[in-house]
Amino acid sequence: MPLQEIRNTFSWFETDESIYAATDFPAFTFELPEETYYGFPSIKGAGVKIGHHDGGRPRDMEKPIEPFGAYEQDEQNVASFAQQHLPKTGKHGLGKPCTYTITPDENFFIDNHPEHEHVILACGFSGHGFKFSSVVGEILTDMVTGNRQSKRDLSLFSINRFNKG
Ligand SMILES: Cc1cc2nc3c(=O)[nH]c(=O)nc-3n(C[C@H](O)[C@H](O)[C@H](O)COP(=O)(O)OP(=O)(O)OC[C@H]3O[C@@H](n4cnc5c(N)ncnc54)[C@H](O)[C@@H]3O)c2cc1C
Repeated sequence: MPLQEIRNTFSWFETDESIYAATDFPAFTFELPEETYYGFPSIKGAGVKIGHHDGGRPRDMEKPIEPFGAYEQDEQNVASFAQQHLPKTGKHGLGKPCTYTITPDENFFIDNHPEHEHVILACGFSGHGFKFSSVVGEILTDMVTGNRQSKRDLSLFSINRFNKG
């Protein structure tokens, strides 16, 4: 399947708690003309959490993921975003690496295995799968219990969608 694994990172920044505490500040998505960042308020003084949704670089899944800080951009990207767009954020604190599994159109794969129909696959969540967990669970339940069909139209998530003429 056309899946690409991307090593991405996210970071916490020291903050002014009177602005960024979870009691007052929301989780956010911040769309710039060319890039998207996301973040979470400071929870129990941990600092504001920021990630660069469309950042990162391809990773080799045969090797352990490189730790945060292996590349200059790990900190640089989010630090310059924080500086420009989130007033009164302070020093960079903790950073962590993670893996995104991306499809070419960033829509998921939810389908029967092309060669083994009794196997059902749900993958390629492209960095935005968590918020769909409940409906993906419902679809998979339908597929497992309802003759491998869901009552929803799943053509958007077909494994073969890139093979059509
Ligand atoms: C930094 C980061 C930020 C994200 N932010 C968001 C967001 O804001 N909103 C959003 O909607 N999505 C977000 N996502 C994406 C979301 O987390 C994923 O799309 C989602 O978790 C994918 O679900 P999954 O069940 O396919 O895989 P996972 O959540 O990775 O679950 C796979 C599970 O299988 C287990 N496993 C692996 N191998 C084996 C094995 N051999 N035997 C037994 N168990 C095994 C793993 O331990 C794991 O528990 C983010 C992802 C990352 C990395």
